[in-house]
Amino acid sequence: MKAFYSDHFVLPLPEGHRFPMVKYSMLRERVVGDGICGPGELRTPRAVTDEEILRCHAPDYLKRVVSGSLTEKEMRRIGFPWSERMVERSRRASGGTLGACLAALEEGFAANLAGGTHHAFADRGEGYCVFNDSAIAARAVQDAGLVERVVVIDTDVHQGNGTAAILSGDKSVFTFSIHGAKNFPFHKEVSDLDAPLPDGTDDTEFLAALAEGLETALDPADAGIAIYLAGADPFEGDRLGRLSVTKAGLAERDRIVLEACRERGIPVAITMAGGYASNVEDTVDIHFQSIRRAADMLERSLSADRQGTARGT
Ligand SMILES: [Zn+2]
Repeated sequence: MKAFYSDHFVLPLPEGHRFPMVKYSMLRERVVGDGICGPGELRTPRAVTDEEILRCHAPDYLKRVVSGSLTEKEMRRIGFPWSERMVERSRRASGGTLGACLAALEEGFAANLAGGTHHAFADRGEGYCVFNDSAIAARAVQDAGLVERVVVIDTDVHQGNGTAAILSGDKSVFTFSIHGAKNFPFHKEVSDLDAPLPDGTDDTEFLAALAEGLETALDPADAGIAIYLAGADPFEGDRLGRLSVTKAGLAERDRIVLEACRERGIPVAITMAGGYASNVEDTVDIHFQSIRRAADMLERSLSADRQGTARGT
């Protein structure tokens, strides 16, 4: 399976910063160690261009991000210190989601080992998000004439507020967010479908709400591609999660999302989004199992194709 990584564009963070930047390189090492990518399939994404960003972001915001002239307050809201690397990394992480969409359109499944920066609005960033990769990738594949309609399935524990706001009024992209009702962001935007969950939601309740949401979302979405935010932070051991979903529950989440898309013939680009477990290994395990599941499904569909070809069908 093709996977896009940008962890070598390391963003300099002050010591003690709580963002677990290390999860990205750890995840890539797991993906390599497990042989998920064949030769040439683990790729560095290109940076998204200004033109691609401007389909979703305000010119003034882009200009100020690039030149480092956001105010201190705006930078605090983003949560990272400004650096040229931050800008480059944000462009590359969006490029990874776009690359995963293009690969998924050809092969069925692909992954960005980063991305899911769903708190980025048209004119501001917040919650560690600068550019909105889902919106940028959705509009890029539409602009290229590859698909007419896109669905964003956001299962990160925090609402996809930036995605909902950027794409509100755009009937060609269906946004579905399942998230903690009482968690950040405290002011929620309106997605095409929201499934807010109470604190402490367990596997059974989470998976039932997810399945119901997918049933409601996928038919009207009528999408040619899905962008799936497989956030690791609904996990019971997450510092910022407030839900009680287990690793096994999150594996089941992956299965439900990926199978619901496959049944409808919708290719899926997986992105990682958040994950703040006390033990970073847990976050990496959860992200890895999402990618492993997609790779297994891709392998099964390729081998079914081969058998079909062998039988002359
Ligand atoms: Zn999150």
